[in-house]
Amino acid sequence: MEKQPDSTGSTQRLNQMLSRLKEHSFRITPQRLAVLKVLAVSEGHPSVERIYDTVRAEFPTTSIATIYKTVNLLKQLDEVLELGFPDGSNRYDGNKPYPHPHVICTECKKIIDPDLGSLEDLTREVVKETGFVIQNHRVDFFGRCRDCQARKA
Ligand SMILES: [Zn+2]
Ligand SMILES: [Zn+2]
Repeated sequence: MEKQPDSTGSTQRLNQMLSRLKEHSFRITPQRLAVLKVLAVSEGHPSVERIYDTVRAEFPTTSIATIYKTVNLLKQLDEVLELGFPDGSNRYDGNKPYPHPHVICTECKKIIDPDLGSLEDLTREVVKETGFVIQNHRVDFFGRCRDCQARKA
C-alpha cells in the first residue's frame, strides 16, 4: 500500500463512499472495496488503469469492467471527481470529490492538489465581471514537478 499523507481524511472518505453505495443497494465485494480504498486516498490522482493494476495485485481475477463500473457509479453519486484530458485519459480524485484546482506535471503526469486560498476571490471576480451563476469550475496548472526538474538537472 502507498503511504497515506492524511489517513484520517481517507478513512472518512472511504466510510462516506461506502454508506452512499449501500444507500443505493450496491453490493460491496472485496474487489469493489479495494477500488474504494484506492480512490479514498487518490494519491497522484489515479487513472482507471492505475486503479486496476493496484487492485489486481491483491485480487488477480478482477476485471477492468469492475473498476469502470465502480468508478462510474461513484461519479453518478458525486463521490468522485473526474478529470478529463484532451488525449482521452481520465484521472480520478475520490479524496476531494468536489471541484478544486490541480497542478499537473506534463512529464510524469502526476497530479497534485495545491492548497490555494485565493480561488473564492477569483470566483467572485468572475461572477462580478460576467453575471454568470457559477455551478462548477476547472482550474489546472501545467508544468514540471520537482522530481522531474531534478531528473533533468
Ligand atoms: Zn513530474
Ligand atoms: Zn484533486
